[in-house]
Amino acid sequence: MAARIDLGDFDVVVVGSGSAGSSAAIAASRSGARTLIIDRLPFIGGTSTGVLDTFYGFYTPGEVSRKIVGGIPDDVIAGLKKLGPVVERANTYGAGTGVTYNPEHLKVVWERLLVDAGVKVLLHSLLQEVTVSDGRVLSLTLATRSGLATVSGKNFIDASGDADLAYFANFSYERAGEISPAQTMTTTFRMINVDVKKRKSFTKDQLHAAMEQAVLDGYQLPRREGSDHITTVDNTMATVMTRVDSVRATTNSEIESVLDNPFFLSESEINGREQALEYARFLIDRVPGYENSALYGLSTFLGIRESRRVYGDYRVTREDVLTAQHFDDQIALCGAPIEDHHSGTGTNWAYIPNSGVVGIPLRALQVKDSINTLVVGRCFSATHDAHASIRSMAQCMAMGTAAGTVAAIASKNFKEIRGIDFNDIKKVLKTGGAILEMPN
Ligand SMILES: Cc1cc2nc3c(=O)[nH]c(=O)nc-3n(C[C@H](O)[C@H](O)[C@H](O)COP(=O)(O)OP(=O)(O)OC[C@H]3O[C@@H](n4cnc5c(N)ncnc54)[C@H](O)[C@@H]3O)c2cc1C
Repeated sequence: MAARIDLGDFDVVVVGSGSAGSSAAIAASRSGARTLIIDRLPFIGGTSTGVLDTFYGFYTPGEVSRKIVGGIPDDVIAGLKKLGPVVERANTYGAGTGVTYNPEHLKVVWERLLVDAGVKVLLHSLLQEVTVSDGRVLSLTLATRSGLATVSGKNFIDASGDADLAYFANFSYERAGEISPAQTMTTTFRMINVDVKKRKSFTKDQLHAAMEQAVLDGYQLPRREGSDHITTVDNTMATVMTRVDSVRATTNSEIESVLDNPFFLSESEINGREQALEYARFLIDRVPGYENSALYGLSTFLGIRESRRVYGDYRVTREDVLTAQHFDDQIALCGAPIEDHHSGTGTNWAYIPNSGVVGIPLRALQVKDSINTLVVGRCFSATHDAHASIRSMAQCMAMGTAAGTVAAIASKNFKEIRGIDFNDIKKVLKTGGAILEMPN
């Protein structure tokens, strides 16, 4: 057996470079910690660059749109604007104003911000094993293109979206589908050569009615409330339309998730692409403006909305969201509705009353079973419903900023992550532009 490659020792090790992980690494390094970020993919950004093109969560939905996320996420937008257009799509429905960007530009923006902050970037590296002693993560084993490698650190951040670090460390988590129905998955796709003006003459309701009719006529469209939107490139539309189940029943009436079975995940990727082709056929045949269009890009991988959610010191709940709960240790805000892409044909929405916002407590980022691990992004500690509100990318970036800051302060001061005065954390976050309380 070949010897394992030693990749070194760091103050903060971040697994996953999506919106949450990249923000965490940038924050940790800016706070002076020797920081490593690891991703299995050959590029940075995870879902933000591999699947999507619109940040939600920067603004509250409703008649009055308030900006509730700032700091590193603002630097991301500034970096995008240097490379090309960024389009704010006002939306009083849905999750509020969306910020649409070019995902290819975002890959470079994330890289620039990470490199400029001094973060060591490790791509093409898949976490496979975690060594833990008494709740302290000591090291990680990664499958790299050069062979198995190890990395050690003082503090760790699970930003893998699917809680891979917690999974391999045997920390407790809830599998999506175990308690509440799991959110479905989506292969996104882009269409070029669309007559956008003509497309805009067709309303959302007309689009959904056309989908219903197409199904009656034999098209295979599992979701009948899919959406399309303009992009930063002329005559190009992006879609969030396909629907692939992330959980299925097994013969002994247990549930099986896509992450339990590598063949299930593979079949789902194939299914998502087949569906995308069918939705593209529908658009070309049935939707005004698409007559001369063509399918141009499929998402790099299937978008997973939820898979594993780690148990933290606190779990944010549906009630917290719908009563706009605030917490003494809140590190970010969220105004997005509970948006549940269940396995039926539609989507369920539940709004925070009076355009309110819910706080995200630091305790929901502290992994219950560990003394030196934080969890951020779509695998943070929340119930299914609360997660369905707080999972937008702006909130992932805000959570990441907070976790990176906490991990850096702990590492530099030889403290435990739970042993830091919250006022010190708050001070650094506010100085960096984070928004912790509702602006008037
Ligand atoms: C179809 C879909 C549509 C959505 N629409 C929107 C939208 O329009 N706007 C919005 O704001 N939000 C949207 N969301 C939600 C939002 O995109 C996600 O919640 C968010 O991007 C999650 O960010 P993250 O950083 O937690 O995880 P991810 O972006 O998924 O990043 C996780 C990273 O970890 C890496 N990783 C995982 N396991 C390992 C491992 N073992 N070893 C190494 N690396 C690993 C992955 O490669 C990935 O890069 C959508 C989600 C989906 C799936």
